[in-house]
Amino acid sequence: MKKIIYFVSILFICGLIMSFGKINVKSTAYTNLNGSYMAVSLGSLWHANQSTYSSWRMNDAGNIWHNSGSVNISQKSFTSYKTSDGRTAYTDVVFLSDDYSDRWEGNGWRASGRYYKECPNRFSRMCQGVIELNDYVMWNTSLGRYYSSAEIQYTITHEMGHALGLADNKYSGNIMTQGRLSSIYFGRDDNDSYEARHGKNSFWGGGY
Ligand SMILES: [Zn+2]
Repeated sequence: MKKIIYFVSILFICGLIMSFGKINVKSTAYTNLNGSYMAVSLGSLWHANQSTYSSWRMNDAGNIWHNSGSVNISQKSFTSYKTSDGRTAYTDVVFLSDDYSDRWEGNGWRASGRYYKECPNRFSRMCQGVIELNDYVMWNTSLGRYYSSAEIQYTITHEMGHALGLADNKYSGNIMTQGRLSSIYFGRDDNDSYEARHGKNSFWGGGY
């Protein structure tokens, strides 16, 4: 019996339902990368959909990041594959969905999604990012509560930002801001975080 012990399991609980109060600070080069583990490898990010949410949603989210940034994001029909030397490798990110209300260390009842990255050990290339989409918050048939299509899209786009190595930022008008949001437009802080992670002029330019 094989027991896999995950060495790295950094997670972000995202889209928390909470009120932030009025934020007066304008977004100015605020960049939060602390503790964010990106799933990008070889300049690209392959993702596969094993959730009940439609694959076009992942493609739409990937496309808007892809169209603005340097990382090539593409959807794959597989979650693992064999390398030429016979090793098993994994797609960079896999999407899952479920009712996570009793999980996520107590936040499953209020967070719409989360991202984490797991690896068998410190040196392994067999790592995979995981994005979990929470039906309890976004598509709750027992309580009759449903996110709008745009709100679902926001969550998926936000989580993909984590897979790109961006952490949450706290200024409104950015995709990496937490909340039940539906306006999918990038802000200055998204740009600056992306460029801090992927290099100067890797996004809009003008950031770090
Ligand atoms: Zn987040």
